[in-house]
Amino acid sequence: MLSVWSNRPRYLHMGLFFAAYVMGCGFAQVLAIVPGITVSIWPPAGVFIATLILTPPYSWPWWILAGCAGEMFGQFVWFHSPLPAGLLIYVGNALCAVVGATLVNRACGRPCRLQTLQEVLVFVALGAGVAPLASATVGSATLAWFGIESQTFTSVWPLFWIGDATGILLVAPMVLIVIQHWRTKTELSAAQWTEAAVLGVIFLGAAALALGGHLSSPYIIMPPLLWVAVRFEFRGAAVALTLLALITMALTMSGGSQFVGDPESQREQQVMLQLFLVISAFSALIVAAISRQHQQAVLTLRQSLEALRDRELELSQLVNMVPSHVWRLTPDGQPTFFNKRMVDFLGLNVVDTDKPGMRRLEAVLETIHPDDAPGFGAALRNCLATGESFAMRYRLRRADGDFRWMSSRAEPMRNAEGTIVQWNIICVDIGDEVRSQEKLRLAQESLARASQAASLAELSASIAHEVNQPLAAIVANSNACYRWLSAEPVNVGRAKITTERIIRDANSAAAVVSRIRALFKPSVEQRHGMVLSSAITEACNLLADEAARRRVRMDINVESNLPAVSADRVQIQQVLVNLIRNGMEAMDSVAGDSVLGVRIRRVGDEIRTEISDGGGGVEFPDRIFEPFFTTKEQGMGMGLAICRSIVESHGGRLWAENNEPDGATFICTLPIATNAVP
Ligand code: ADP
Repeated sequence: MLSVWSNRPRYLHMGLFFAAYVMGCGFAQVLAIVPGITVSIWPPAGVFIATLILTPPYSWPWWILAGCAGEMFGQFVWFHSPLPAGLLIYVGNALCAVVGATLVNRACGRPCRLQTLQEVLVFVALGAGVAPLASATVGSATLAWFGIESQTFTSVWPLFWIGDATGILLVAPMVLIVIQHWRTKTELSAAQWTEAAVLGVIFLGAAALALGGHLSSPYIIMPPLLWVAVRFEFRGAAVALTLLALITMALTMSGGSQFVGDPESQREQQVMLQLFLVISAFSALIVAAISRQHQQAVLTLRQSLEALRDRELELSQLVNMVPSHVWRLTPDGQPTFFNKRMVDFLGLNVVDTDKPGMRRLEAVLETIHPDDAPGFGAALRNCLATGESFAMRYRLRRADGDFRWMSSRAEPMRNAEGTIVQWNIICVDIGDEVRSQEKLRLAQESLARASQAASLAELSASIAHEVNQPLAAIVANSNACYRWLSAEPVNVGRAKITTERIIRDANSAAAVVSRIRALFKPSVEQRHGMVLSSAITEACNLLADEAARRRVRMDINVESNLPAVSADRVQIQQVLVNLIRNGMEAMDSVAGDSVLGVRIRRVGDEIRTEISDGGGGVEFPDRIFEPFFTTKEQGMGMGLAICRSIVESHGGRLWAENNEPDGATFICTLPIATNAVP
C-alpha cells in the first residue's frame, strides 16, 4: 500500500493521460459507423497499455483510476451506456492493459522500448494480439448482457477484438516513443528534414487519395509508409501511423472515406478498415525494427572498425617504439612487414624490394655478414619447414656499412586450428654488449696473466731464497778452502773439513731443486708398492706440531689389511700434507678445538682417502683445482692443482664435497697396485 502511495504519478502526467484517454474515446466514437454496433477502433487501449509498459507496477492503480475517470467521461459524453455496463466494459479494458503490459515486459525482460525486432514481435503478438482477448470478451459479454442496441456476443466480439488490437497497434508505438524521447532532442540534418518533408507530403497525398477512394486500393500508401519506417525508424513509423489514423478519422467524419459504404456492407467495410490499419501498423513497425537493427549493426561495425584502426595505430606506434627490429614473414618466408627502426637501420627501401626480380627476403639476407649468412639461412629454412622457433646471433650490416651483432628470435603465430599464419621475428642490437663482453674478457685475461706473473715472481723469489742459502755457503766455504790451500804451509785438514761442508751445501741445493722438480714433474720411475696407512702416519707426524699450534685434533681411521698402491711416496705425501694443511687452515676461524678426520678404506678396486674438516666448506667447488686460484691472502692457489695432477698421474681421482652442516671433505682415490714393487 505504501509502495502504491510512494509511486503516485505526477498530477500533470495523470492529467495528460486522462486527456489522451478521452480523446481516444472521441476518436472511437467518430469511427463507430457500423449501424447498431457501438464498438470501433479503440485508441485508449494503446494509450493505456503503453503507459503501463513504461511505468512501475506499483503506480498502475493510479493509472487505472485515471483511465476509469476517462472512460466514464467518454461514456457520459458519447456512449451513454448504463453506468454498471460502462464500468464493466472498463474493467475489461483495464484488464487488457494490465495483462498486455505484464506479458510484454516479462517477455522482453525489461520495459519494452520497441528497439529490436524481437521487442516488436513480442509487442504485436502479446500486446496487440493476446491482451485484447480479455477486453473483447468482457466487453462483448457486457454489451450482450445489457442488450445495448441489441448487440449479440458473437456479432460484437470480433469487432471488439480487432478494434482494440488496431487501437493498440496505432497508438501505443506513438505513446511509447513520445514518452521515451520527450526530453531528447531530435538531431536531424538539413537533408533529413528535407527528406522528411518530401516524404510527409507524398505520404499525406497518397493516404488522402487512397483512403478517399480516388485510387483503387488503399494499400497504395504502403511504399511511402515503409520508406518512412526505413529512413526514420520508429519515430517516423509512429508519426506516419498517427497521421494515417487522423486522416482515416477525418475522412470517415466527412463521409468521404473509402471505407464508408451503404448500411448493409458497413460492417464488412469496418473490418476492412481495421485490417488495413492493422496491416499498415504491423508492417511499419516490423520494417522500422529491421531498419533499427540494421542501423545498429552498421553503427557497431563502424565502431569496431574505428576501434580496430585505433588499435592498429596504437600497436604500430608501440612496435616502432620498441628498441629492436621487428619484422613479419608469411608462412612460406616472404617478409610482409618491417618496423621503422629496422628500415632505418638497414636503409632498406621496402618499396624498392617489391620491384620485379628483387625479393624482400633476399634483400634482408644480403645484409647479413657473409660468415653468418649460411647459418642464418639454414636456421630460417629449418624453422619454416618444422614450425619450430629459433634464436641466434649474427652480424648485420647497418646502412653506413658497419656490421653490428644482433640477437634474433623467431616465433610462429598460429590460428585457432594450430596452423601457422605468420612468423614474427625480433632482433635486438647487441653490438655494444658484445663489445663490452669482449673488453671484459680481455681485461680478465690480462689480470690473470698479471696475477700469474706475480705468483711466479713470488715462487721464483722463494726458490731463489732457498737455493741462495746453500749457494752462499758454498761460495763462502770455497773461499775458505782456497785460503787454507793457499796458506803456507797448506792446511789440508781445514781444507778437507771445508770441502766436506761445500759438498753438504751443494747436496742440499740439489735436494731443493729436485724437490721443486718433483712438485711439477711426476715421475713414474719413483713408484713403488706402498701402503697408504704408512704415508698418512708420516704426513700426520710431519704436521703434528702445526696441528697442536692450531688446536686441531686428528681423528685417523684406517681400515686394516689395506692392499698396496703403486705410488711415488714423496708425491703422495705431498698430496696428503697439502690436503691436511688446507683442512686445518679451513678450521682456523672455528672457535675452540676442532677435529680433522682422515679415513682410508678400500672401495672396489681403489683405495679411498677422505680428509674432512669442520670449516666453512668449499665456496667455489668448480674453481679450486684451477692453478693460481686462491681465496687466501697469502695463498698461491697451486696446492690443489698440483695435488690433482699428481693423483691423476697415478690413475686416481681427487675431488671435493661439502659436508652437512659445515665443512668439506676432499676425496682422493688411487687404484690398487697389481704389479707394484714392494
Ligand atoms: P692455497 O695455497 O691458496 O690454499 P690451494 O690450491 O691449496 O691453494 O687451495 C685453493 C683454494 O681452495 C683455497 O684458496 C680455498 O679457497 C679452497 N680450499 C682448499 N681446501 C679447502 C678446505 N678444506 N675447505 C675449504 N676451502 C678449501
